[in-house]
Amino acid sequence: MAVETPRHSAVGGLLDYTSEQPLAPGTLIRVPLGRREVPGVVWDPAPSSAAPETELRDVASVLDAMPVLDADWRALVDFAAAYYQRSVGELALSVLPPELRKLDNTRLARRVKRLLASGLATGLATAVAFDGPAAPPGAPVLNAEQTAALQAIAQAKQPVLLHGVTGSGKTEVYLHAAQDALQRGQQALVLVPEINLTPQLEARFAERFPGRLLVSLHSGLTPAQRLRHWLLAHLGLADLVLGTRLAVFAPLPRLGLIVVDEEHDPSFKQQEGARYSARDLAVWRAHRQRVPVLLGSATPSLETWQRVQQGRYQRLALAQRIGGGAMPQVRLVDMGQLPQTPEGRERVLAPALLTALQERLDRGEQSLLLLNRRGYAPVLHCSACGWKSGCPHCSAWRVFHKLDRTLRCHHCGLSERVPRACPDCGNLDISPMGRGTEKLQEQLATLLPQARIGRIDADSTRGVGMLEQQLQAVHAGDVDVLVGTQMVAKGHDFRRVTLVAAVNPDTALFSSDFRAPERLFALLMQAAGRAGRDAEQAARSEMWVQTWHPRHPIYAALRAHDYAAFAAAQLEERRSAGLPPFAALALVRADARTAEVAAAFLQEAATLARDLDGVTVYPVVPPHVAKVADVERMQMLLESPSRTVLQAMLAHWLPQLDALRGRHKGLLRWAVDVDPLVI
Ligand code: ADP
Ligand code: ZN
Ligand code: ZN
Repeated sequence: MAVETPRHSAVGGLLDYTSEQPLAPGTLIRVPLGRREVPGVVWDPAPSSAAPETELRDVASVLDAMPVLDADWRALVDFAAAYYQRSVGELALSVLPPELRKLDNTRLARRVKRLLASGLATGLATAVAFDGPAAPPGAPVLNAEQTAALQAIAQAKQPVLLHGVTGSGKTEVYLHAAQDALQRGQQALVLVPEINLTPQLEARFAERFPGRLLVSLHSGLTPAQRLRHWLLAHLGLADLVLGTRLAVFAPLPRLGLIVVDEEHDPSFKQQEGARYSARDLAVWRAHRQRVPVLLGSATPSLETWQRVQQGRYQRLALAQRIGGGAMPQVRLVDMGQLPQTPEGRERVLAPALLTALQERLDRGEQSLLLLNRRGYAPVLHCSACGWKSGCPHCSAWRVFHKLDRTLRCHHCGLSERVPRACPDCGNLDISPMGRGTEKLQEQLATLLPQARIGRIDADSTRGVGMLEQQLQAVHAGDVDVLVGTQMVAKGHDFRRVTLVAAVNPDTALFSSDFRAPERLFALLMQAAGRAGRDAEQAARSEMWVQTWHPRHPIYAALRAHDYAAFAAAQLEERRSAGLPPFAALALVRADARTAEVAAAFLQEAATLARDLDGVTVYPVVPPHVAKVADVERMQMLLESPSRTVLQAMLAHWLPQLDALRGRHKGLLRWAVDVDPLVI
C-alpha cells in the first residue's frame, strides 16, 4: 500500500496491510499508522514479496465507490516519486484532491452516483466517437503552417514543439488537436502556467466545444470544486481538462492528447513538497500512454530546444503572425548616452520614450510599461547614519509601500508602519531608494497628467476578482498607460496596446542565477508579443528597452526577434560551463535555527557522498536570500554529466540523510530538488 509517510525511503515507502476482501491496485483505502488513521492507495505488489516478519494490521476502510486509479496513473506516480526522490505514498496522496480524505465510502458513492447521473442526462462524454461536424462552428480555416503542424501532430512519434510567437495561431492548433482527440472519443489535457490564464482559455475552449464537458483543475478552486472536477476527469465524464501544473496528475481513463502551453514557464515546476516539473512529467506520461504531446512556446526552454537539436523532439514552426502582423520594432535606449539630469533629479524615462508615450496617448492607443519590482521603493534609507529598512527576520530589505505607508518584507510577510524618523539616529529625513511599480505609476501621473494610468501587480490584485476587474478596465479602454510586473506580460490579449517598454531590465543580465538571461529573454519576447496584436496596428507597434548595456547579445537577439541565435549562444555558454541541459543537477537544502547547524548537516551529508562516483558535490553555500522568517538556509549542489548516474547516486545516498538527521539538533528540515530551476 502506498501510505502517506513523508520520508525518503529506498523501498519507496510502501507498507503492508491485510484485508479480508481482495483489493485491486489503485483502490483508495484508509489504514492505521501508529495511532492515526491515514489515507492510502492499494499499490502493485512488489515483485519479490517476502513473507512478512511481523503481524500485519488490517485496512481500516475501503473506498471502492469510485473506479480504481489505473495502472497508467500509478506508473506516473511511481516514476515521479522515483525521479524526484519522494516516497510513493507521499506523492500519491499529495496529488489527490484534499477533499477526498474527508469522505467515507457512502458519501463518495453518493457523489459519484450524482455525477454519473448528471453526465448521462446531458449525454456528455458517452465515450463514443463524436459524429458532429468535423469543424465546429467558429473554427477558422487553418493556414498552411497550422495545417502542416496538425498533420505532423497526428503522426508524431515524438514530443512536438510548436514554436511560434504570440499571435501566430498556436492556440488554434491546440483547439484543432483537441478536436481530433474528442472525435476519437478521447480526453484532452491542457496545461497552462498560471491560474490567471485559465479563464481566458477556458472561455475559448468552451465556445469551441459546446455540449462538451470542460473542467478546470488548479489551486484557486474551492476544495469541493476541485474534488468535483477531479472526479469528472477520473470518471471519464470530462472531455477537456484545463489546469495548472497539478493537473498533470489528473487520472484520465480516455487520455488522447496533452498540451503544455508556454512550456518554458518556470511555474510548471513545483517549488515545494515534491518538486516536480509538470512539463517533464507531461512528456513522460504522453510517451507511456502513447498519446501526442504538444509543447507550445515562442521562447522554448533551453532543455526543450536542445532536445529539438538532438532530434528527440520534433519542431513545428508557426513563423507568421495571423493576419500578417509584424512583430513590433524593438528600440534600445542607451541610458548612458542621455544628457545629465539636474543634480539630485532622478531620470524616470528617456525623453524619446516619453514622447512616444505621449503620441500613443494622442492617438487613443494604449501603452504598457514593464517593471519587475512591486511596491514603491525596494528600500528606505537614512542619509544621516546609513540605516536601511532591513527585515529583522530575513536577510532582505523591507519594501516601502507608499499607499498604505508600510514597510513590507516580501519574504516573510512582516508588515509595519513606516517609521516617522530613522529608528537608529532619529533623523527625520529618511527617503526611498530605487523604484517599484507604485512609484513609477506616481511619476507617470506627473509626467503625463492627461493619461489614465493603471497598475497591475501582486499588490494591486490581492483581492478576489481584482485582477479580472483591472484587466477588464484595460480591455474596455479605461486605461491609457498600464504599469505592471511580469504578471501583465503573460498571455493577456490586449488589443489596443501599441507600445511596450521595459523600464529597467538590466538587473537580470548580471544575476548569479544562470537561468536569468533565459528568463529575461522570454519575458521581453512575451512582452513584445503584447504589442500590436491587431494586424493593422502591428506595423507601428514598438517595444522599447531602457538599458545601460545596449550592445549586450540578449538585446541584439531581441531586436532581431531571433530566438534561435539567442538559444545557440546560451547553449554554448551552458556547454562550456557544464550547466543544464549539458549536466544534471540536484540541490539539497537544509533549514535550521542557525546557519552552522544547517551547514554542519550538509557537510556530513557531503562526506557520505564522497565515495559515490560520477557526481560532483559542490561546497555548502547560503542561497541568495539565506535567512527567511528567522530560519537559516544552506544548500549544496550536486552535478553529473549523466542523469542516470545522478539518479542512482541520489537513490543510494538520500536515505542515509534521514539517519543523519538525529545527530543535528536544531535542524528543522531538509529537502532535495531534482532539476532545480533556481540555484
Ligand atoms: P497564439 O496562441 O499563438 O497566441 P492564437 O491561436 O491565439 O495564437 O491566434 C491569434 C489570433 O488569430 C486569434 O484571435 C485566433 O482566433 C486567430 N486565428 C488563429 N488561427 C487563425 C486562422 N487560421 N485564420 C484566422 N484567424 C486565426
Ligand atoms: Zn539614521
Ligand atoms: Zn522578512
